[in-house]
Amino acid sequence: MNEIKENLKIIKEKIAFHAQKAGRNPDEILLVGVSKKHPATKIREAYKAGLKDIGENYVQEALAKMKELKDLDINWHFIGRLQRNKAKYVVGKFILIHGVDSEKVLLTLNNQCEKRCGGNKQAILLEINIGGEETKGGISPSEAEILTKIAMELPYIQMQGFMTIPPPLEPEKVRPYFRKMRELKEEIEAKLGVQLPHLSMGMSADFGVAIEEGATIVRIGTAIFGPRPQ
Ligand SMILES: *Cc1c(COP(=O)(O)O)cnc(C)c1O
Repeated sequence: MNEIKENLKIIKEKIAFHAQKAGRNPDEILLVGVSKKHPATKIREAYKAGLKDIGENYVQEALAKMKELKDLDINWHFIGRLQRNKAKYVVGKFILIHGVDSEKVLLTLNNQCEKRCGGNKQAILLEINIGGEETKGGISPSEAEILTKIAMELPYIQMQGFMTIPPPLEPEKVRPYFRKMRELKEEIEAKLGVQLPHLSMGMSADFGVAIEEGATIVRIGTAIFGPRPQ
């Protein structure tokens, strides 16, 4: 077995283990392989091994890879920081945009999707800065409810839930942040009387804990593709 195939097998086993530990069905957890800085050939390898969802961080890099891999039926996810002037390049091309972190970006995505999505909506997640870190993007937990409301009222946006990147701590120290994120989601759902399908949280180092705390999407790079080339 090649390395990527083997890594995927191990990760799927770990996803199943942690899901079962939390009394969850492993099938409700979507694995997104994060391929930033890795060549398209590696994505092709992962696809052949059964990985259908791929996350990219940089618009130009992602579009180039889409072109190179257009013979494959990949679900592309945009997981990077999205600048407003790049919104027109991503709408309609990514199955899910994970990192929407301001009202301005939200409104721009809505406007661009009206022009470019052929009547479809763009699915998005709002990024929450759950650790309140100053250096990090994401909206503060206190603004999450109002932005959720705004997102749900936009005609070309499909609000699917939240994404978070917790402070870089060891897995057990990250657990309270993942838990806080799930509680915030549940609180907003109760207040607005809605159900949001997704919580995108957990990376190579901590996806097991994230699953135990309610992640429905994990974004895994290094543990699938190896260390990123510089
Ligand atoms: C790079 C990246 C990942 C993957 O990180 P790994 O530690 O390599 O698994 C996940 N999410 C986001 C937003 C990233 O930028």
